Amino acid sequence: MGEILAGEPGKSREYHLDSIRLSLTENSQVQIRGLIAITKTAKDTLIAQGEFEAEITGECSRCLDQAKLSTVLRLAQEYALSPQADEEILPIENGQINLAEALYYEALMNTPTVFLCRSDCLGLCPECGVNLNREEHKEGCGNQVK
Ligand SMILES: [Zn+2]
Ligand SMILES: [Zn+2]
Repeated sequence: MGEILAGEPGKSREYHLDSIRLSLTENSQVQIRGLIAITKTAKDTLIAQGEFEAEITGECSRCLDQAKLSTVLRLAQEYALSPQADEEILPIENGQINLAEALYYEALMNTPTVFLCRSDCLGLCPECGVNLNREEHKEGCGNQVK
């Protein structure tokens, strides 16, 4: 990315991001692919823009099975050599920009708080603990359909 910072403002380059994998939380990950365009906007500033396919995988909030969500991330992140304590603008350090950090926040914002394996997930029985999507209540469970 250093070569772009060295060029004239308005100079742009595209990079393919292929299967970038990031950990979102302790038990969820995101896999990202797409095209990123890095454009020099002024002497010491860059903007990274792109649209990415993201596949978020994690634990279903109800049944704890593996859940998967495909989504599109749109990134427009500014970078500056010396950002003025502005949280929106990330620093350029040693000619490098941290794309992973920007993608991480974008993916996190696109992850629903209640992450489900399917919208009608039946979850776990609070009494006998079986996964109601694929198991019957255990013998003697009070929630058993009689
Ligand atoms: Zn589930
Ligand atoms: Zn039960």
